[in-house]
Amino acid sequence: MRESILSGVRVLDGGMASELEYLGADIGGPLWSAHVLEDAPEKIVAVHRGFIEAGADCIETASYQVSRMGYVEVGLTAEQADSALLRSVELARSAAESFPERRVVVAASLGPYGAALHNGAEYHGNYNCSFDDLVAFHRERIEVLANAKGRQRSDVLAFETLPSLDEARVIGEALAEWPGSAAWFSFTCKDAQHVAHGELLRDCAAEVADLPQTIAIGVNCTHPNFIPALIAELRSASEKPIVVYPNSGEGWDAQARSWTGSNDPAGYGEMAARWFAAGAQIVGGCCRTRPAHIRQVAAA
Ligand SMILES: [Zn+2]
Repeated sequence: MRESILSGVRVLDGGMASELEYLGADIGGPLWSAHVLEDAPEKIVAVHRGFIEAGADCIETASYQVSRMGYVEVGLTAEQADSALLRSVELARSAAESFPERRVVVAASLGPYGAALHNGAEYHGNYNCSFDDLVAFHRERIEVLANAKGRQRSDVLAFETLPSLDEARVIGEALAEWPGSAAWFSFTCKDAQHVAHGELLRDCAAEVADLPQTIAIGVNCTHPNFIPALIAELRSASEKPIVVYPNSGEGWDAQARSWTGSNDPAGYGEMAARWFAAGAQIVGGCCRTRPAHIRQVAAA
């Protein structure tokens, strides 16, 4: 049953891209971690295994930036994008299979349209793109994943880093043909109440709460300080399970081209305990969170 997919799941994994970087993979190109799907799939499996070892009972595929549009832009084909989506699920499955005693849920990571533009547009959500084109962008990825079989089939579609109410609405529309699919919707927020584009998080949550596919609603790629208030916002809008996976808390200093602030796994674990207490069912991490952070979340 769709509702039971996340039952018993408490710990999500951490940042795929930053972990690949630590393993020496080149994520500097326009497709970011999607490059690695083509060039070094064994590194992706290694990252998944590291997070499962740390205690994650749900892992996200390395497909955040995979789209036909993005692939075609760099000279690859739409078919290659589709098969990369399916391969990302297979890689996550094979990592999960090396822990036969564990139940590990595989979530197919699907970033917003802005992530495929690779210009940071997901952090403001102002796209120069019509509603119908945006539906088509999401629909073609959903179609591939929703029709997948066997080891290429994910347990849940994870729509994440969503910057706006509009994009949530678009995805609801794009999902309509597959009422039997399971999905979670996770938003990127700029403060304790608002998503990146400026709408209230609670309005975004209310928008997706009644979709037949929605099994959880959450917040990711957001400063951890805002999470307790944002959990309350989510709770005010729906009774759905809450998933939170913020960034490590460091800030990017564009002038110095370096990360600032603290990135202390123990501190992250203390915050995670508070997020669980505030009502989050599932806690993980986004940018710059490593297996050490997830180990602390699992302990919390
Ligand atoms: Zn992030």
